[in-house]
Amino acid sequence: ATEVRLASRPQGWPTLANFSIVDTEIPRPGPGQVLVRNVLMSVDPYMRGRMNDAKSYVAPYEVGAAMQGGAVGEVVESTVDDFAPGETVLHDLGWRTHAVVDAKRATKVDPEAAPLGAYLGVLGMPGLTAYAGLLDVARLTEGDTVFVSGAAGAVGSVVGQLAKFKGAKRVIGSAGSDAKVEHLTGELGFDAAFNYKNGPVTDQLAAAAPDGIDVYFDNVGGEHLEAAIANANVHARLAICGMISAYNATEPPAAPRNLGRVIGWRLTIQGFLVRDHYHLRDRFFAEVAPLVKDGRLRYEETVVEGIRNAPQAFLDLLGGANTGKMLIRL
Ligand code: NDP
Repeated sequence: ATEVRLASRPQGWPTLANFSIVDTEIPRPGPGQVLVRNVLMSVDPYMRGRMNDAKSYVAPYEVGAAMQGGAVGEVVESTVDDFAPGETVLHDLGWRTHAVVDAKRATKVDPEAAPLGAYLGVLGMPGLTAYAGLLDVARLTEGDTVFVSGAAGAVGSVVGQLAKFKGAKRVIGSAGSDAKVEHLTGELGFDAAFNYKNGPVTDQLAAAAPDGIDVYFDNVGGEHLEAAIANANVHARLAICGMISAYNATEPPAAPRNLGRVIGWRLTIQGFLVRDHYHLRDRFFAEVAPLVKDGRLRYEETVVEGIRNAPQAFLDLLGGANTGKMLIRL
């Protein structure tokens, strides 16, 4: 058997020196386990994060230990009734030719129902990512204009096609080569696509989406996210799935430097304008006015005398001279 171990943690772009390939004995399954001969294993962008020793939504790989990831393989030996040799399973112990898997952590898949690779891609974790992100997170609605970055990849290619199936008016993708761009507008049926290496993303997106975008499915972050915000229509929804442009960065990006945390921590960031919420006015007043009146809700004012002092007061406001509400008494 052979396995790939994390030899050292990369700084910036990983190199081969960060991996070691080690021959091992074929392991034997213990009680409740199956031995799987892996047939296909997945490589995914999130694995770059696991090579770092950083707190995230998934534990770091350990230096000196085999790496992990999605894999499908054939059961060759089993100590449990539910799994028999010859069956095909999906599990999390890739990066090795032979895996001893807890039966609880193996899922049977039907090799007749779909090609094995599909269980790691379009019908697997990336496909589900696309589906959930587009429908649940971005709340795709018929007639939306959708932009997806990383559009020629595992997740992005499903996002774009699903969006079309679900009634998006216009689907735009970006990718990193002209051949990928042709694939998007050709085989995959995207309405428009561009190569982000050919010019500023904001400009290319504006040209592809003259009426703006309603949904952005972000696989890339950085300049792509900026471009999506620049071209977003009112009430556009941005589903932040990945920020691959930053995964090998050694310098922090421009602030917010920790924007990537919105993914691991599933943060919802939503803009709003009070003017959309004026229907709450009566309820607000009825609830809060009594609190103010009897002093349970306190408030401060900084009052500047005279209209002539208004400009300075305004500057002072920007400089923080006020506590509570800055007012000018005329
Ligand atoms: P892909 O199949 O899309 O492969 C990665 C692609 O990223 C590459 O092919 C490359 O395509 C593109 N890329 C690499 N560097 C850059 C860059 N600097 N700028 C723009 N594009 C770049 O991977 P997946 O479909 O598996 O994953 C896509 C994204 O979704 C990733 O960010 C990943 O982390 C994220 N993800 C998040 C999940 C979640 O639960 N939130 C689950 C699964 C994936 P190109 O030629 O176009 O540059």
